[in-house]
Amino acid sequence: MTPAGSLLVATDLHKSFGPTAALDGASFSIHPGEVVAVMGPSGSGKSTLLHCLAGIVTPDSGSIVYGGRELHTMSDARRSALRRSDFGFVFQFGQLVPELTCTENVALPLRLSGVKRKDAEAEALRRMAELEVDDLGGKRPGDISGGQGQRVAVARALASNPKVVFADEPTGALDSLNGERVMQLLTEAARSANTAVVLVTHEARVAAYSDREIVVRDGRTRDLEYAG
Ligand code: ADP
Repeated sequence: MTPAGSLLVATDLHKSFGPTAALDGASFSIHPGEVVAVMGPSGSGKSTLLHCLAGIVTPDSGSIVYGGRELHTMSDARRSALRRSDFGFVFQFGQLVPELTCTENVALPLRLSGVKRKDAEAEALRRMAELEVDDLGGKRPGDISGGQGQRVAVARALASNPKVVFADEPTGALDSLNGERVMQLLTEAARSANTAVVLVTHEARVAAYSDREIVVRDGRTRDLEYAG
């Protein structure tokens, strides 16, 4: 049964890579505006779960319903379009395009959705101000720090006003001070836009920014008590 008001619901996911069962009965749900931390040791299946939820990896069995529609009955084209329009992504290493300025990087998802350069860059700068990196607009990723790069990456993930941001160890490459700041800004920006955040982390201090935590162990999920 779909939990009432959920935006994204996964039920009993199984996914194997050869003999390795990465997911072995994992379930998940998230509401609009909710920040859910997916915790667990390395190799437990967290990234595979995130990739399934985002429609990047197809599970062997189980169901994933987004906005009332089963993700894997959609055509590839439709799923890609959905990823562009409704999902944002932040990875451990910002994965910014090195040849582009920071503003151009943040504007990129909007440009790919057909927004004119001027409008896309204005929106990018607005997002960058929220993440306190608007003064870096003209710089290239190679000329800024790791913490600044992650804030630019968060601004990019939020630029097209997604319904869900998938963040896979977004502070994994940062020191604790920069990591905390990125988490603070990411969760503030997401909550104010009613954007849900699926936050994969193995660090308790990062998970502390979530509304709720689930733990993955050996490909199976378990809900923790409400963290708030
Ligand atoms: P976590 O994110 O918790 O570290 P993963 O989801 O990355 O865990 O991996 C879960 C298990 O599945 C691991 O044993 C990993 O080696 C395996 N795995 C993940 N992706 C692949 C892949 N593309 N090919 C083969 N094995 C994989």
